[in-house]
Amino acid sequence: MLSEYENWLRTVAKKSDGTNYSDRTISKYTSSIVVMKKEFNIDFCHYNNYENLFEMRLDLFSNPSFVEKDTRGNRMYSRAVELFISFVFENEFINIQDDINKIQDDKSLSYDEKNSYIETVCNLRNPQFQNNFRRELVNEFNCKCALCDINDKRLLIASHIVPYSECVNKADMYKAYNGLLLCIGHDALFDKHLISFDKIGNICIKTDLDPLLYSFLNINTDMKLEKKFLNLERQECLEKHMKKFER
Ligand SMILES: [Zn+2]
Repeated sequence: MLSEYENWLRTVAKKSDGTNYSDRTISKYTSSIVVMKKEFNIDFCHYNNYENLFEMRLDLFSNPSFVEKDTRGNRMYSRAVELFISFVFENEFINIQDDINKIQDDKSLSYDEKNSYIETVCNLRNPQFQNNFRRELVNEFNCKCALCDINDKRLLIASHIVPYSECVNKADMYKAYNGLLLCIGHDALFDKHLISFDKIGNICIKTDLDPLLYSFLNINTDMKLEKKFLNLERQECLEKHMKKFER
């Protein structure tokens, strides 16, 4: 398993800027896994599905001695775990790649239809990823729409910023930074690129949307995302969303 992980780091994994990891970094991450196995008694080879890994990650990341070690190591250990999870995820994901390719190649489908079918396939086949994605967003956004005061869980959607079909690393599909927690109405507007957000979180509303509809849709030009939600990775995702919005 470890050599497969190393091989995956070398040939598949990409840094957020799209480049490959250096040999030095790869050996750092691989040896981190070995160290964690020894010091925290975690046998990574036993974790062959995402759900188990996620539980392990929760336990590990809340262990004070791990946190201390990770801080001293400049987050090398947690990064190695995150990448290991991505590695397991991608292995599981390969099983649905054929279905996704078929949808991508279907010329009778529009861009929005393709995204929605791909999302459905991913969620049906790997419900635990979507559940986890939603759980993390509900926590981060304190169970409230990022734009309004709707806080009823039944009306809140874990909304993807960059759609599944366009995530460079498949594991990014379910990272919380690629999501916003929105109520049903705001999710629909965001999903259809009728609204988007600039770098500092200000709402941008499609110019051809009739301002008379704003109050029905519960939008106004003063709306913005709170600064605390704008981490670097989420900003990058929002930038991609903005490019589609501007088209
Ligand atoms: Zn809302």
